This record gives sequence, C-alpha cells and structure tokens, in this order.
Amino acid sequence: MRWSKYLIPTAKEVPKDAVVASHVLMIRGGLIRQLAAGIYSYLPLGYRALRKVERIVREEMNRAGAVELHLPVLHPIELWQETGRTAAMGDVLLKLRPIKNDDAGDWRYHTVLGPTHEEPVTEIARAYLNSYKQLPINLYQIQVKFRGEARPKSGVLRTREFLMKDAYSFHDSLESLNEGYQAMYDAYCRIFGRCGLPYFACEAESGPIGGDASHEFMVQTDAGEDVAAATENGDYAANTERATCAPVPQDNSEMLPLEEVHTPAMRTIDEVTAFLNKRPEQMIKTLIYVGYRSDAQEVLENARKQLREAAAANPNVVAKGLPQMSFNFVVLVRGDHEVNEHKLNRIASSVTPQAPGLKLELADEATIEKLTGAKVGFAGPHTLSKSGVPFRLIVDQAVSVMRNAATGANKTDYHAINVNPVRDFPLETRAGSPCHVTIADIRNVVDGDLSPSGSGSPIRLKKCIEVGHVFKLGTKYSDSLKAHYLDKNGKSHALIMGCYGIGLNRIMASAIEAHHDEAGIIWPMSIAPFEVLIVALDPRVDEVMATADKLYNDLHAASVDVLLDDRDERAGFKFKDADLIGIPLRITVGKKALAEGVVELKRRDSQDVEKLPPDKAGERVRMIVSEEVSRLSR
Ligand code: ATP
Ligand code: MG
Repeated sequence: MRWSKYLIPTAKEVPKDAVVASHVLMIRGGLIRQLAAGIYSYLPLGYRALRKVERIVREEMNRAGAVELHLPVLHPIELWQETGRTAAMGDVLLKLRPIKNDDAGDWRYHTVLGPTHEEPVTEIARAYLNSYKQLPINLYQIQVKFRGEARPKSGVLRTREFLMKDAYSFHDSLESLNEGYQAMYDAYCRIFGRCGLPYFACEAESGPIGGDASHEFMVQTDAGEDVAAATENGDYAANTERATCAPVPQDNSEMLPLEEVHTPAMRTIDEVTAFLNKRPEQMIKTLIYVGYRSDAQEVLENARKQLREAAAANPNVVAKGLPQMSFNFVVLVRGDHEVNEHKLNRIASSVTPQAPGLKLELADEATIEKLTGAKVGFAGPHTLSKSGVPFRLIVDQAVSVMRNAATGANKTDYHAINVNPVRDFPLETRAGSPCHVTIADIRNVVDGDLSPSGSGSPIRLKKCIEVGHVFKLGTKYSDSLKAHYLDKNGKSHALIMGCYGIGLNRIMASAIEAHHDEAGIIWPMSIAPFEVLIVALDPRVDEVMATADKLYNDLHAASVDVLLDDRDERAGFKFKDADLIGIPLRITVGKKALAEGVVELKRRDSQDVEKLPPDKAGERVRMIVSEEVSRLSR
C-alpha cells in the first residue's frame, strides 16, 4: 500500500472528550472516526488492525474445536420474552420502532437488535441438538452487537455498536461443561497472548451454578472501569465485585468501659473521626437496609385472588396473614471499609430463605428512626434490640474482631466509644432476642488486605478493562427455551451450557493502552495494521524511489504487510506520522544513506538504528517479523 493512495487522516487535534490514550491515538492516527456518540467508523488503518485481531480469534477458536456460524442481528422479541430477559436487559436492549406508534401489526414492533446471542443460539440447539451423540459442541460467531449503553466512553472501549466473538457450548454433564470451559479459557489465553496483551484472568461474579463459574480476562489500564484485586505473588486475582481476603486477626487490646459522647450534628465518618480523634478503622459504620422479596407483586396478586375467591364463597371469611414482604437488616462494616452489595445480597438471601430473590435497599428515614430511636446518622449496634423491632444483624468479619470501637449511640447527637463485640452487641443469635446475627465477609477488599490463599501476600487493586469473559451458564436458557436432548437411555434433559465472549474492538484499544508512548502507538507485530513502513525521504530522487519501490515489491511478494510512505513531505513530518501510527518496523530510504550504500532499519519500540545494504533489508525484516510473531505465540 502506498500512503499517497491510501486514507490515513492523521491529526494533531482531538475532541475534548478524548482523554484516554487509546481514544486519543486512534483518532490522531486516523484509525477511527466518530459518527455519533458510541458509534465509530473504522478507517482503513483501524480496520486492518481489527481484521488481524479477528483472524487470531478465529484461528484459536477453530483450533479449540469450536464451529463457526453466523446468527442474525435482528431478533424477534418473543424469544427474549421467553427467557425473561427483556426485563433483565432493560434499556440495553434496543428495539426497532414501528412506522406508526404502537402498531403491534408492524413486524418492527416485535424486533430487537441483539446485544448478545444466547437466545437465538439456544433456539438452534432446541431445533437440532436432540441427542447426546451430538454433544459436546461449541458454536461461535464473530458478529456486531448493539447495546443501549447509557454512557459510551473512552473511544471504542465502550460503544453502542461493537464486534464480539461469542461462543456457546452445549453439554450433557457438568464434567463435560468443565472441560469445554477449560478449553475456552486456554484458547483465550492464547488469543490475548498472541495479540500482545499483558492480560490476567480473574474470578468474576459467578452465575447461577455458583463456585468459580466465571472468569474475566483483564488488561490493567487507568482507562478501565473495572477494579481487580490481585495479590503481589500472583496466587489470587478476582474482580472486586467478588474478591475476598484473609480474615482480619482478632485485636486483643484490653476492653475499656463504654462511654457516650456528645457529638452534636456529626453524622459522617469524617466529622466523627475528626471530633473524637479516631481513625476511620477504629469506627463501626452501622447501615440499615430493607430487603424486599423479588416476587412481592406476584405474592400479593395471588393473595388478592384467593381472598376474592374465598369472599365469593363465604362473605364472612377472615383474611389470613400474608407472608412477610420485607425484612430489616442492620449491617456493620469498619469505618474505612465499604459494603459490597453483591456479597451483602447473597448473605441476606441465605439468612432469609423464606423470601426468594431478596434485594436490599438502604432504609428510609422513618424505618431508621423507628429501629434506632434516633435521627439518621447516630445508629450503632449496641442497644438496638431495645426497640423490639425484629432485624437481622450482619456483622462484617473485620468488625467482629475489633476492640474499643466508636459508633452511633442510637441517641440523636450522641456517639458511643469503646464499643466491643460480644460484650456490647451479640455475635450470635440469642434466644428470645429480636435480632438474628450472622458474621460474614460483606465488604470490598482494600489495598493491603492479605491473600485469601493464606500465603500472606498483599492484595493490590488495579484498574482494568475487561476484554473477555467465560461463563458457565448451566441450564438457564435451555430450561426457559426448552432446549432438550435425549440421553443414552432415551431420557430427556435440558442442555447444559457455557458462554464465552470477547470484545474485538476492546482488544485493539487495550493493546494501544498497553503499548504506546508520548509520540504514538507501538503496535504488537501480530495485530499491527502493517508490519513494516518504508519511508522514502526524498521521493523526487529517482534512486531513492527506485530503492524504496524494489524493497516494497520484494516484501509484498514475500507476504509481508508493507506500507510505503511516498508522500512528498518533509522528513520530520513523515517521522512524526510514522511514530504516531506505530508500525513496528521502519525502513528509511534517503539520499545520504544510499550514498553510503545503506538504508536504515529501526524498531518502533527502540531508539537503535541498524544500517544495512538495501538488498539485505528485506531478509532482515522477514526474520524480525517472524521472530516477533512466534514470540507472541509462545
Ligand atoms: P462491561 O462490564 O464492560 O459492560 P459486559 O460484562 O457487559 O462488559 P459481556 O456481556 O461479558 O460484557 O461481553 C463480552 C465482551 O464484549 C466483554 O468482555 C467486552 O470485551 C466486550 N464488550 C462488552 N460491552 C462492550 C461495549 N459496550 N463496547 C465494546 N466492547 C464491549
Ligand atoms: Mg462481562
């Protein structure tokens, strides 16, 4: 490709909202252009890199035995209603608009744009995967996804339209699912390795099967929106949504007498710690939540129906009590810790088996005042039971080992100091008490917490971007869509499924996040739009152009991806553009060097310049390219 006949609109200026490196450099390097918020065109250079990522992904999926197909972007909404995901997806699921508003007769009324493809692929499985003999099988595609992301940002890292490789595996046993999952996990490692990404895998929020049923593949970058907790010695990594740590050891200081202190209008941890001269880790935060049954509406409707029927049969019927709809929770975490809503919801559900799918929300003022007998901001665990209002007390492990803590006194404008677990509030449920107690890990890990493996290695928090996600789904979709197979004995079962996603655009942008400098992109060889750039410094000099052309033709013939900068521009300008677009190898052909019988070979990631005769340059480039590609494949 000759630069003068190509389209590489490099630019000095970038839009104000471009702050992260990949966004800035992809715009400046002429790789992408924004068409609307979260919607990008890929210009020739950007598209070449994306296609290279795609090729690696496809090769590794095929190598892992997955089978490629292609599913439509337009889906009938009924399929999504069958799995209940129209509600779960909310505004992320984009719907077509009928020509006349609310015209249910218009096909558009019933059509959505696929944000992911579990539904249509399970529809195929339902039709064709009917026997254990066909299992296991992994079906994948590389297809555009549409998501109504509320806040698209950071260039192509979070967009409303993007390219995903999504794979779905089907199995007849959990062992087979585990094998299929591991095969995808290994394929992902090879894909990210070959793309030159400094990635790591971490445990992610697990799905319906539980256990370590899900892993995310992360690239560390400040541009990321996820935070992973990873130990220094590498023995543990998890998304902070899920991460745990070693228990905090018991503080054995002497217990001091509990005192109440007047703290007028001081409600926040900052105000109280400053006033009491304490550190946040010496405080207990007391948070009050209400948990609601997720099926409350259904329960109420059923109860109403039963009541109507009973009243019709016997007008003097006395209504029986409804099941309890909401539950109070008092939650204790250390002043320097934050509640982890995922963990809290899980624990709250497990201690409230009578209320399926419990969801917790912070309590309103009235509930707090009723429970504590004080204005908001003065709640504490001791004396709480006095109100007689039943509640579940969930104590974070780090609070259970504290000594002489400060917290609210359940009295407006007062805090208590020297509050001690067991002595001043229970760590076990006591007979006759309105308070049911659980000690659990319900907080986010913090930097410096120790590995849950017991190795003592400290945890560090890292901002990162999720480039891939592997997931054991179980029978969630095959149950709701009735995708069943017959086993050896002719018995019918729901297919057991896994799903595996990779964001191709994110791989490309993360590679730039990981590999760039002040001057521009430094592409890994494997996904660089071109492997080598020949810069003809004086294109009007015949000898220069003849040498550059010969090199270009030789490399092209040897299947090296080569770009020739034949523009009649100043050397400095061309070098700046070369650094910006980041092609890994650069051969400079200039009058002066040619007079010495050489051209200059330079790697984008090094300052060293190698001088060599023009007829040796092609061979040398081929060697470096193949060494680099095989290094990344290892
Ligand atoms: P996130 O938490 O970042 O929103 P997700 O968990 O919703 O992502 P998945 O449904 O697991 O994403 O999709 C699989 C992969 O698709 C992700 O690992 C990511 O690489 C990519 N991806 C997801 N959403 C986007 C997006 N809005 N823009 C670009 N790539 C995306
Ligand atoms: Mg994900």
